[in-house]
Amino acid sequence: MSTLPARKSRTLPRTLLGALLYSLLCWGSQLAAAETTPPTPAEILGFESGQWHVRHDQIDTYFRVLAENAPTTTRLEIIGRTHEQRPLLQLVIASEKNLAKLEQIRQQHLAVARGEAAFDPNLPLVIWLGYGVHGNESSGPNAALEVAYQLVAAQSDEAKQTLENAIILLQPSLNPDGMDRFALWANMHQGTSPVADPQHREHVEPWPNGRPNHYWFDLNRDWLPLQHPESRARIAQFQRWLPHVLADFHEMGTDGTYFFQPGIPSRNNPQTPAKTFELTAKIANFHAAAMDKQQTLYFTEEAFDDFYVGKGSTYPDVQGSVGILFEQASSRGHLQDSINGPLSFKTTIDQQVLMSHSTMRGAVALKTELQQSQAEFYRDAQAAAKVDPVQGFMVGDDGDSTRLNAFLALLAQHEIKAYALKDDMQLQGQQFHQGRSYYIPLKQRQYRLIKAAFSAETNFRDNTFYDVSAWTLPYGFNLNFAQSRTTPNGIADQAWQPKVAKVPAANAGAFAYALRWTDQQAPVMLAELLKKGLIVRSSLQAFSAATNNGLEQFAAGTMLIPAGLQSEGWFETLLAVQQQFALPLSEITTGLTPVGSDLGSRLMVPVTLPKVLLVAGPGINSAEAGELWFSLERLAGISPSLVEPQRFSKIDLQRYSHILLPDGNYSSWQEKEQQLLKSWVAAGGILWGQKGGAQWLAEKSILQAKVLQAAELAKLISSSAANYSDKEQQAGKKRIAGAIFAATLDLSHPLAFGLPRAILPVFKNDPMLLLPASDAYVTVGRYTDKPQLAGFTSPEYVAQIRQAASLLAHNLGRGRVIAMTDNPVFRGYFVGSGRILVNSLFLAKAFDSQETGDDGEEE
Ligand SMILES: [Zn+2]
Repeated sequence: MSTLPARKSRTLPRTLLGALLYSLLCWGSQLAAAETTPPTPAEILGFESGQWHVRHDQIDTYFRVLAENAPTTTRLEIIGRTHEQRPLLQLVIASEKNLAKLEQIRQQHLAVARGEAAFDPNLPLVIWLGYGVHGNESSGPNAALEVAYQLVAAQSDEAKQTLENAIILLQPSLNPDGMDRFALWANMHQGTSPVADPQHREHVEPWPNGRPNHYWFDLNRDWLPLQHPESRARIAQFQRWLPHVLADFHEMGTDGTYFFQPGIPSRNNPQTPAKTFELTAKIANFHAAAMDKQQTLYFTEEAFDDFYVGKGSTYPDVQGSVGILFEQASSRGHLQDSINGPLSFKTTIDQQVLMSHSTMRGAVALKTELQQSQAEFYRDAQAAAKVDPVQGFMVGDDGDSTRLNAFLALLAQHEIKAYALKDDMQLQGQQFHQGRSYYIPLKQRQYRLIKAAFSAETNFRDNTFYDVSAWTLPYGFNLNFAQSRTTPNGIADQAWQPKVAKVPAANAGAFAYALRWTDQQAPVMLAELLKKGLIVRSSLQAFSAATNNGLEQFAAGTMLIPAGLQSEGWFETLLAVQQQFALPLSEITTGLTPVGSDLGSRLMVPVTLPKVLLVAGPGINSAEAGELWFSLERLAGISPSLVEPQRFSKIDLQRYSHILLPDGNYSSWQEKEQQLLKSWVAAGGILWGQKGGAQWLAEKSILQAKVLQAAELAKLISSSAANYSDKEQQAGKKRIAGAIFAATLDLSHPLAFGLPRAILPVFKNDPMLLLPASDAYVTVGRYTDKPQLAGFTSPEYVAQIRQAASLLAHNLGRGRVIAMTDNPVFRGYFVGSGRILVNSLFLAKAFDSQETGDDGEEE
């Protein structure tokens, strides 16, 4: 985080021309003047609120000017950068007195909030106003300009009173990359007068729309997994400040009115204390009063559950803050017809401004109660931890320190402490080895967040979920994971902290160098070696070999870099790449192995750099395409070519070794596309299909598998005797909103190489199933007899899932077809099952599903 240097302020011109001159002058000159009233957004931007959709660079410009002109009451901070390098802004607004001792106040406030100091009513509140985590919900960011101006410049009694009582943390745009995508779209279609017709191009966003971030991730699902820089920056500020109230401004469909929490009482996270809802409801009275005054319709306690802790309005609730969701009907453009009449962008902005003020008004009125509630939150959590039969959680991983450290780093960002085990121990049938296992005690400040993040609940009082019903973090990371009812004897005194990994550099002169395949970074390092021209082979079987460290065992999948096959300068390259990734290399001294294949065996198969086409465009599930794109880069070091399905039949497929079909609707693909794909696979291509992609491949007999479609499964749950009022509940039962299942993998199959154990947690949010193949060696993964690990699934479905396949892979001509009905890289943090995707890139040609194979001589 950096604080922008305050510039000297100056008297300001008040005309548009003046504003233009001003903004030109602003950066260059150093005229000194006294603090003045800052300019309005319109004076700087040249247009009135709602006339155009503001771009992020314009927000940036305005906030800089605002902060420069009010150096004693504002502090503008760049708290991070987006993928596209836009600055993430936070404007701290406080009274002159409070801003002068901001850091001292923050420390005192944290001490109280963490239960380390006594409640102090003289401390100010901390109120967080966050806008536009969904980029195409732009009334929020546009409102943020007005709210900031009104707080900083307007000398109203209420603004003064707010700043006397509260520190305001205002984040004007939580998803600038997405917001700009939408702002450009809305602006480029505006003519001299706005067109309200919903069919006008302005109101029909192209693919991908502005909601997600650069990699098409929904940032309002990433508050817990923290896969993106926007989320990491935000959570660092959240933990740095622990606000009393966090307001999260969104938009919903055009025909809506206005929603503010409280939401549906039965769909709250069980870790949120009742007091938090009570306070949410009390603050809601202030929203209602403001809306009533201007006779605007609104609703509460309906829709939008508050269950998944990775959302902006729920994450704060399990940490002593009051998170509040706001949903404004969207004009999605400048003016759009709705059932409530034409809805203008200006109206939507004004209502977000109104709710920003009612939030501050309500919070200030309830100041003491909010402060007491936060102080009590952690005390109550400690009391709950004391009587909890579970003492803590154990996690560990034996072969993959990258994956384990990434998990621990995630916990650390949420201020959850984990302690290294000093002795090996066994728990619930799992081995936890010292040095590679950590204990997360529940008796720590983040008791409720840990309970929420590690929950593996399968029974719920309400079975309808707006979002996922499970997100158990250790399953996503595929770690050994167990509850502990006792505190282990030997644990480290200090909690885990990140440290720079170091490995000894490989020595020259070995016969071959071996890279173990278990580490999450190994495939990325392999890709780098291949890009730099090194020759690499993969072992299809386990083997042992003589090394400079004596006899070492190597699992199947181990990558070998034989010295005799390389070209000039290769060893310097190897050392440089090893230094970059900090993974150990074993120095094998002879090609003759005591156990398993010798290094020159045909079972040491060549590995080549994949050239990947990822189908991404209209009809395709953009979130899943984005997750694949993001994960291919991060887990495999491969940047795919993104190709729209509509262009597929017109391109040269010979450029690619792999084609990936994410979930989506492929009905636009006709005979031509099918034939192209079939002949490309027959000639040696590797085809990956997941969910809807897999279903389409099966329908076209490219994937040889029987699909149990969602509609067929839904017939298992009869609604014929249900009342009309049960409709929503019935629909909830027919969905798999998002649950975690246990699959068992054939570890001897190349697609499973590097996995630490046969049981693999997979994420399912689509009821469609694949049946196991009748042919041998095709069903690589199937669900276990007790497949439910976490989340809600109807018992009728579980019975079917128990008999279904999770991963199928077979030959087709000289190529391969691989299919999954789960999402292997769900929300980026399912890196455990992500290994299957990675293996399909590097090892698909290493398997042969035909019983009478061609002896490995292929290609
Ligand atoms: Zn939203």
